[in-house]
Amino acid sequence: MQLQAKVRIEGILRFGTPFHVGSGRPGESLSEMGVLLDPFGRPILPGSTLKGKFRASAEKLAHVMELTACLLDRSLSAVNCIGDEFYRKEKTDEYRALTDSSKKLDWINQNTCHICQLFGSPLQAGRIFFSDGKLIEETWAGTVQTRDGVVIDRDSERARDRLKYDFDVVPTGTEFEIWIEMINPTQQGLALCGAVIHEWQEGTMIGGFTSRGLGRAKLNSIKIEQVNYLDPSKRIAILMGKGWENVGLSLLDNAMNSLIQPLATATNLINRGGNHA
Ligand SMILES: [Zn+2]
Repeated sequence: MQLQAKVRIEGILRFGTPFHVGSGRPGESLSEMGVLLDPFGRPILPGSTLKGKFRASAEKLAHVMELTACLLDRSLSAVNCIGDEFYRKEKTDEYRALTDSSKKLDWINQNTCHICQLFGSPLQAGRIFFSDGKLIEETWAGTVQTRDGVVIDRDSERARDRLKYDFDVVPTGTEFEIWIEMINPTQQGLALCGAVIHEWQEGTMIGGFTSRGLGRAKLNSIKIEQVNYLDPSKRIAILMGKGWENVGLSLLDNAMNSLIQPLATATNLINRGGNHA
């Protein structure tokens, strides 16, 4: 795939409550759950965790812009998409019969929901990439805290003694710089990003135990830059890594508007028609 444009989103994610992003090491038991730490004992916020949460947020907001989200499960979403395992199997022969690579690409685009087009699916690489969060050292308390938990027996609603467990949390106020990069963004992709970025500005929940109020985070200090590889006047600057221009949130807001405006107009026409009747 030829590189035509890149968009980079940077921001600072601040946790307003403690958070738990588990280390999930093999053999780790329910009775002692650690958080992901680097070799120096500092908390890590993996890009995969950020991507998973960002995708889930986008899935929930897609319908507002009349974009499709298969939820990787056609039985839940009723959206045909190769992200769904059974639909993919059903369509495999059709896909394999295509020989021309541009036809294959067209086929994938026609058989993929907007979420899979942006974040990827088993047949198609995503266009959006998440770096691991970079800890802002001054905000880090220097140590994790341990919390007690008890497993509640759902039938009796009584805590079962033998199922007491401890889990670690990273203290309130910890901040990370985050980076998101989009390759050859589409209007739909930019619009989905815009919706999620605005949601995260208001607040999101990241990691485990969010039902206990952990993992509340807000995204601030957002910076958005773009580089257009097809701009002939800037080619040399771009190849030297100096072609980035600051475009701000309006890049994402305009993309949201371009999708929502036609929908609003259509609704107005329907309403006006109704008034005349
Ligand atoms: Zn999909």
